Amino acid sequence: MDLEEARATLFDTLSSVSGTDSIPLAGALDRITAEPIYAQLSLPPFPASAMDGYAVRREDFAQKKPLRLIGQSLAGHPFSGSLGIGECVRIFTGAVVPEGADLIILQERLAAAGAGQDNGESVHFEDHKPDENFIRPVGNNVEKGQVICGAGERLTPLTLGSLASAGVSRIEVVRKVRVGIFSSGDELRDPGTPPEALKLGQIYDSNAFTLANLLQHLPVDLVQLQRLADDEETVEKALADAAERCDMLITSGGVSVGDADFIGATIARLGQLAFWRLNLKPGKPLAFGSIGDCRVFGLPGNPVSTIVTCLLLVKPSLQILCGTRPSALLRIDAEMATQISHRPGRAEYQRGVYHQSDEGGTIQVRHTGDQGSNRLSTFNGANCLIEIPKESADLPVGSRVSILPLSDLLD
Ligand code: AMP
Ligand code: MG
Repeated sequence: MDLEEARATLFDTLSSVSGTDSIPLAGALDRITAEPIYAQLSLPPFPASAMDGYAVRREDFAQKKPLRLIGQSLAGHPFSGSLGIGECVRIFTGAVVPEGADLIILQERLAAAGAGQDNGESVHFEDHKPDENFIRPVGNNVEKGQVICGAGERLTPLTLGSLASAGVSRIEVVRKVRVGIFSSGDELRDPGTPPEALKLGQIYDSNAFTLANLLQHLPVDLVQLQRLADDEETVEKALADAAERCDMLITSGGVSVGDADFIGATIARLGQLAFWRLNLKPGKPLAFGSIGDCRVFGLPGNPVSTIVTCLLLVKPSLQILCGTRPSALLRIDAEMATQISHRPGRAEYQRGVYHQSDEGGTIQVRHTGDQGSNRLSTFNGANCLIEIPKESADLPVGSRVSILPLSDLLD
């Protein structure tokens, strides 16, 4: 199965978990809205001045006579009266425009510098035609009852700011998705174990650590599960138990065709296997299925394969479970600055570094050296994946390719 087909299959079959939480705005970053959220008031809630200056009656101003200053309106301290004929009020940005006024004259338009400060004073303005009235009417930003944010939206710092400004204090969000992460392999030890304590053949379990970090800003409750030994019975029992407690399980390793690879067969035995093996490099041995209501991804163990498949398949799938749309892949045209050898047959995602020498200029990209899927170091300094379509032959320097910025994939 090609990557696009696998993504389409996942997107078609997966759906949001049910259940919501009512939470305060302050803890809502990155949560997904469960229902539309409406403005609780109009913004601005009162006619507000857009500038520092003087609130006047347009009719008076047109007569070009001095106006009598009767008070001031500051942000948070409105002028208490209303404006009569021949009067003006000193006003500042964000302050309430007093009743009777329908025009703000900017303070730069005073006829004499330093004038227009004292109540009772006659204020003279330059003779000019105001560009606009500099008054923000009620609801000019948002109308009371307007939808600020639809259902199924991820709450960003920007949306949360809008909600705060519109008087929203609690929101109904989709409950967090419970995700269990398993590593598998007898050779694995916890990161943090001193290197000298590793026995011959042992390596650190980096995948569990990477996966948790890749997913932690999604609205998920991550459960680090005990590492799976390379033993069929242990794997079966652990997956069956965890599937009861989680909405999604993500394993890495043990999904290939080696003698110690039990994940694919175990998913099939305990539940259903939807697909196993992709026409994708890195990431060929990938299994997806379900055990009861729990979705299970068996990711390949090679660290680069784990990351690439997590970004291209697991993360968008999780977004659906979390109640929102899967992110579309952002592809940008670039020109190869190094050459790539590729035989047609399998789509490949290499790690690359792109840069744009001048603004608006061509984006140049180079790969990060030998692209072995064990070489986590190919991600060092990388800022994109280079997409090599399955039909593609060798790509000489100067070839056009699509790149997928990591900033987007990691968002
Ligand atoms: P496997 O699919 O289990 O044969 O694993 C493929 C390769 O990935 C082997 O070299 C494993 O040692 C390595 N590997 C598997 N799981 C992890 C992990 N959690 N962290 C780092 N490397 C791993
Ligand atoms: Mg293994």
